[in-house]
Amino acid sequence: MSYKNYPMVSRVVFGRGSFNQLGDIISPKRLNRKAPFIFLVDDVFKGNTKIISRIPIAYDDQLVYISAKEEPKTSQVDDLVEHIIVSHKDRPSGIIGIGGGTILDLAKAVAIMITNEGGAKDYQGWDLVKNPAIYHVGIPTISGTGSEVSRTTVLTGPEKKLGINSDHTPFDQVILDPELTNGVPKDQWFYTGMDCYIHCIESLNGTYLNAFSESYGEKAYELCLDIFMNDNPISEEDMQDKLMMASWHGGMSIAYSQVGVAHAMSYGLSYLLGTKHGIGNCIVFDHLDEFYPEGVKLFKAMKIKHNITLPQGLCANLHDDEYDTMIDVALSLEPLWENAIGNDWKQTITRDKLKALYQKM
Ligand code: NAD
Ligand code: ZN
Repeated sequence: MSYKNYPMVSRVVFGRGSFNQLGDIISPKRLNRKAPFIFLVDDVFKGNTKIISRIPIAYDDQLVYISAKEEPKTSQVDDLVEHIIVSHKDRPSGIIGIGGGTILDLAKAVAIMITNEGGAKDYQGWDLVKNPAIYHVGIPTISGTGSEVSRTTVLTGPEKKLGINSDHTPFDQVILDPELTNGVPKDQWFYTGMDCYIHCIESLNGTYLNAFSESYGEKAYELCLDIFMNDNPISEEDMQDKLMMASWHGGMSIAYSQVGVAHAMSYGLSYLLGTKHGIGNCIVFDHLDEFYPEGVKLFKAMKIKHNITLPQGLCANLHDDEYDTMIDVALSLEPLWENAIGNDWKQTITRDKLKALYQKM
């Protein structure tokens, strides 16, 4: 038996207002005046001087606004890398992602693709990256995905939706400033927060569970209950602080185990219909009581408590070949099923079974 030797984020700052330290943190990493920092920033912050004026732009540094309306694509990564390479003589000093999981994943992928040949699609999979990425920093502005701590960057490519899972993927530096999550719309707060909750449920109920994952998963789960199910509401600030740490712990929990049924099926929805990760997970998880009875029961209670209505009938008018596409994507994620069900998962997880589940969504 050989145990996996996982990389982690090398440095992390936590605290309200810690975003102000960004300039001090990155300046020693500047290679020279012509080697810029590239700031990839969620375009929801365009015109938000409170955030933008604090980005420490100097010399040839470049700020690129990116829409988080759609999840990152391999072609988008390739375009960004080309744009960065042609606009600057020197290789950048670093990539800094400021936003949610969409922007964080893009920042990780761009940092990898600056030093690796070919296109991003060539690296979707496990341990395909050859050269170390350039210095990259993640600054989440919404909590839940765990992308800030994970070893993957999920991309939709021409053939598959799959992450670049590698030792070079994790950030060199993360800044956790819960104040940056001010202004997240309520529904989105719930969907992305539930991504974290579902990470906990899938990790804690998986066959890959071990004491490492459990210790993080239990903490994240406990924090989720404090945030989403507390009868004595906690302050907004407390809530933001706790959700940021829940996201981190949830991410750490799956790092050493795996996600499960909700993620496998939600990848199918997202590949075919472009359904975003947070809401997609919620739509799927709502129907998974046979796999996660306790977790789904609590999820439904949280939905009611926060007045969330999920879209219905997403798959109502799909053709057979469209179901097939979703089922192919879901079934291709073998480690997720193996974690959720066990080695013999193929005996119970049939195409018909998945079709029947998708038909409910
Ligand atoms: P997101 O980044 O897509 O953002 C969701 C919405 O919230 C967007 O409209 C965005 O503009 C808005 N937003 C973000 N911060 C805001 C703020 N402070 N104020 C107002 N609006 C704000 O959402 P997400 O759920 O964080 O990320 C989803 C992505 O993360 C998916 O692409 C998914 O594949 C990926 N993901 C990656 C991992 C990983 O380990 N790499 C894990 C889970 C999910
Ligand atoms: Zn997730």
